[in-house]
This record gives sequence, C-alpha cells and structure tokens, in this order.
Amino acid sequence: MSFDNILGNNDIKELLNNSIKSNNILHSYMFVGTDGIGKSLFAKEFSKMILCHADNKPCNTCSSCIKFDSDNHPDFMIINSEDTKSIKIGQIRFLQEQIAEKPIVSSRKVYIINNSDLMTVEAQNCLLKTLEEPPEYATIILILSNENKLLNTIKSRCTKISFKNISKEDLIKYANQNNISTTNTLLDICNGSINKLISLKDDSEIYSTLDNILSDFSRKDIADIWNESEILYKSKDNISNLLDYFNIYFFNKLKMNQDSKYINSIKIVEQTKRRLSSNANYDMCIDSLLLKIWEEFNEGNNRS
Ligand SMILES: [Zn+2]
Repeated sequence: MSFDNILGNNDIKELLNNSIKSNNILHSYMFVGTDGIGKSLFAKEFSKMILCHADNKPCNTCSSCIKFDSDNHPDFMIINSEDTKSIKIGQIRFLQEQIAEKPIVSSRKVYIINNSDLMTVEAQNCLLKTLEEPPEYATIILILSNENKLLNTIKSRCTKISFKNISKEDLIKYANQNNISTTNTLLDICNGSINKLISLKDDSEIYSTLDNILSDFSRKDIADIWNESEILYKSKDNISNLLDYFNIYFFNKLKMNQDSKYINSIKIVEQTKRRLSSNANYDMCIDSLLLKIWEEFNEGNNRS
C-alpha cells in the first residue's frame, strides 16, 4: 500500500492504488480541492507508481524510482506557473513537444500541471488537442482548486478526483508527530490545509502571545495591552493571518456564548482589515483595533 506518508483522503488512496494494481491508468485526471491539502503529493506519488518497473509499486529501488526520486526522470514533468499568475500557451506547447516523444525509462509518460486553473484560455485550447488525442502511453494530471476557471471542454475530458480537507483529528495527529504546538484557534485557521499548518509552525510563539493578549483584554488596562502587543506592531507582513487568528478566536467564543462583545470584536477586526487594505497608518490602525476591542470587553465593568 502506498501513499502511507500522506495524510487524509484514504478513499482516494484506495482508488489510485486499485487503478495501479489493475493497470487501469487513464489518460487525464483532474485533482480538485483546497490549496495545501496534499493534491500535489498524491499526484507525484501516483506518477512514481505509474512509472515504476516493479510489481509492488513504488519499489523505490528500480532505475525508474531512483531517477524519479532524484528529480531526473525523462518520462516525467511538472509544469508550474512561471510568474505565479498564469500558465501560458508556450508552456503547453513545450509539453506537447515533449509528450510526443516516446518514453525512455518507463513504459509510460506522466505530466503534472500544477495550479492548472491558472492556464490562459489559449493555453487551455492548446492543451485540449492533446487531451482529445493523447499518445497511448501518456497521462496528464491537472491539479487545481477552482474548477470554474477551466473550460468545460477540458473538464469533460478529465476524470475528476475530489480531495477533502484534512480533518482536525488528522491535523492534530500530524502536529503531535512533528512536534508542532497548536491551539484550537490555530487548527481552525488551517482549515484542513497541512501546508498552512507547516507554514504556521515557526510562528507558534507568536500565536501563543496572541492567546495571552486575547485573554488579557478583560483583565488588564489598555496601556498594558498596548505594551504586550508589540508583536502586532512588528508583524506588518503577516498581519492578515494574525487578524484571522483574532476572528477565529472570537468566533469560537461566540459559539459558546452569544455575547455581543464577540460579534462587535469581529466587526472591529474586519474594519481594521479594510482600513489596512486602504493604506491607513499601520500603527494607528493597531492602536485603534486594540482600544476598541478593549472597550468592548470593559464597557460593562466601567458602567458598573
Ligand atoms: Zn520502482
């Protein structure tokens, strides 16, 4: 059984394993789902299995597997966006030139197009020709999150495999195995994305500081809150993630207790996001964010 090192989507593991065992490999697939949940890992592992020479795939020892693992397999190619904005017709034409040549190491050739929802319409129309009449040895795997950006003519020629977000339990399991410290709020921010969890790993100290700030709103003076919030003032590049953290925290509180201060705090965070995106003074936005939330949490106390 392969895909052992990939988290979640066990039904897809079974499906792909079975298609390898029965040698029922199709010419074109569409791997669809949220970014960062492992679609590319699945596609690479599947490709390695398709290309492997042994009965028990992937064997990790045949010449195909060795070339694959050293990123040096002549029958395998990954197309990525060159400018992170689009995949252009030139890249698809290159794929077509390559795919027309017979495989060298393996009996098949596999092409992965990452973020294929970034293909321009011209690129898609160009790819369509290959999808309509693929060489018998070729498999193309399109990886994408937004199906609406693909032409229907492309979609109708691919077998769609839908990936589910990783469950919270699986994320916790992964975090424990890899010594990543998490909080409930942090797991909610990840929204089933293992990549997001990994990218947040190095920031775990920041998030525990945020936890302290959030729990101090009702206990401390605003001057102390401002003092301990230095991290917010220093995190201009990452502020959008930190504000999301605030909101998920308030939202979780709201689920347990329908107190208007949580709704109002969410509104204050959203307002801050809008002000920041219209280039308002950064420090002043953070000052005001903290003060307004503090007022929400202390209004009742002040009145009494
Ligand atoms: Zn092998």
